[in-house]
Amino acid sequence: MSVADPRLGRPLAAPEKIFDAMFRPTGVDGVYGRSGAYEAVIEGLGALITGMRDERAEVVRFPPVVSRALIEKSGYLKSFPNLLGCVCALGGGERGIGAAVERFEAGGDWTETLEASDLVLAPAACYPVYPMAAKRGRVAKGGLIFDVASDCFRREPSKDIDRLQSFRMREFVFIGAPEDATAFREAWRARAPRIAETLGLSHRIEAANDPFFGRGGAMVGRIQLEQQLKFELVIPVRSVDKPTACMSFNCHRDHFGEVWGLRGEDGETMHTACVAFGMDRLAAALFAAHGPDIADWPAPVRTALSL
Ligand code: 5GP
Ligand code: ZN
Repeated sequence: MSVADPRLGRPLAAPEKIFDAMFRPTGVDGVYGRSGAYEAVIEGLGALITGMRDERAEVVRFPPVVSRALIEKSGYLKSFPNLLGCVCALGGGERGIGAAVERFEAGGDWTETLEASDLVLAPAACYPVYPMAAKRGRVAKGGLIFDVASDCFRREPSKDIDRLQSFRMREFVFIGAPEDATAFREAWRARAPRIAETLGLSHRIEAANDPFFGRGGAMVGRIQLEQQLKFELVIPVRSVDKPTACMSFNCHRDHFGEVWGLRGEDGETMHTACVAFGMDRLAAALFAAHGPDIADWPAPVRTALSL
């Protein structure tokens, strides 16, 4: 069942062969309704991941919107301003709003008087957990573990089935001493391939970097790669030669600890790490590997997903 080398995997189902089994078009690239079969796979994946959760983990589910101030303070605008979606609403009181509607009804542009609200769309699931933990005071020895999830948005329209604008992310997050954060990340890097094996998916783990914005960003990405701060578990979805990142294993070092004042019992700055599961990419990888009809999937895979 386990095929560690993607080149040994079964041939992939073409995206156009599996799209209808997974998605319902909405008229926007990368924004899809999801079929019942697809959601059953997502639920099975969720339960499988829950089964691997540390018993100390605190579960928090976040809405798809986050405080704009929180994301600004986290440094997101420096790193990925191109991907951020901001919630806007009509300003100008009753008169201004009425005028916008009239403009629209006269064939004009109602969006001219939009004002940025205090919310942005969540770009990843873990951002809100760091200030939440910091508000509780010092982090006890042994650190904290969270199980978080949210719908995420990244402004990168694409027709590819593995690059959605709106997708779901589940994460396990660690906050604690530097060596414990590294150990957490390493433990998941060692453990996560088992998920791909259970699901009959070819996979490998690669050192990776985030797509930091701009020319300065390329440098930050190189440093991240060199220092092995990010690894990704890649699985063939559209191409066997260019497999898709379906999970990531991240060390943030003291970044969030500094930003939010996360301190240990002796006042030392906490380190953080997270493992992220791209639920929609994992589901797409399963359909690509095993085909559009779940009834045809290997029995052990269906059993693992309670399908
Ligand atoms: P990261 O924060 O490492 O970029 O993203 C964490 C995980 O979210 C990725 O490993 C991937 O599985 C998922 N993800 C990131 N971008 C996209 C996307 O555009 N579409 C989908 N479906 N999943 C994504
Ligand atoms: Zn994270």
